Amino acid sequence: MRAVLLGTGSPPPNPKRRGPATLLALGDERFLVDAGSGVGVQLVQAGVRPYDWPRVLITHHHSDHMIDLGHLLITRWIVGQNAPFEVWGPAGTKRQMDKLLDYLDWDIEIRRAHMVKRERPRVTVTEIEEGKIIEAGGVTVSAFSVDHDPVKPAVGYRFEGGGRRVVVSGDTRPSENLIRWSRGVDCLIHECCEMAKTSWVPGCGWPTLEEKIKDLASYHTQPEDIGRVAKAANPGTLVITHMMPASVPAELEAAAKRHFDGPVTIGEDLLEV
Ligand SMILES: [Zn+2]
Ligand SMILES: [Zn+2]
Repeated sequence: MRAVLLGTGSPPPNPKRRGPATLLALGDERFLVDAGSGVGVQLVQAGVRPYDWPRVLITHHHSDHMIDLGHLLITRWIVGQNAPFEVWGPAGTKRQMDKLLDYLDWDIEIRRAHMVKRERPRVTVTEIEEGKIIEAGGVTVSAFSVDHDPVKPAVGYRFEGGGRRVVVSGDTRPSENLIRWSRGVDCLIHECCEMAKTSWVPGCGWPTLEEKIKDLASYHTQPEDIGRVAKAANPGTLVITHMMPASVPAELEAAAKRHFDGPVTIGEDLLEV
């Protein structure tokens, strides 16, 4: 089973890192975790043309993880794909997809007006809870809860297939439940959103830079903790993703290795891990 990091960035636009998205594939069976900014072009660069854009598994409803769902949905339909667009995600996914379809409705109808007998794009939404959610093409997918309060629910996904086990954390602070679900996997793809590298301006919602860092760090995993998580989960490889533009890969690697003595990979867009 291949795991391709399509986007290793976070909300701030970063020419070197697209928004969060990861492709899992065993043969032609594909799963896309999250649909961050730029995911369509990254799928094409990974060799998946719009007609074949796969089912999407959303980890949570923060915009950086689903901002390009509309692009995926409409583009695969424009190129002629009539099979339903499958979207999986925690409670609230149906509400978000209904609103997205409503937003796209004018575009869909104006395009259909000069097509012949073209049906509207179909979407199937499955709201999931913790446990096994999909078995397809030799891959078993499970979802598990992570700790991203106040964003609830938020999940990570575990994939087993082709003799490999891969976990994608989604956004989370260090999570005991994630450690349970990740124990001994071959590859743990884990966020490390280093809030000390955030910016601040007056009126941004936090009175001081320090308060902003403290608040946002409380629901992400910081460099000082990423190695502790990996040590407890003991994956074959730790892959770090969801990075801030100012994060320095060598610093993140050094931080992770303070506690974890296994292999550490700093994610790069389009890297297969
Ligand atoms: Zn995020
Ligand atoms: Zn988030």
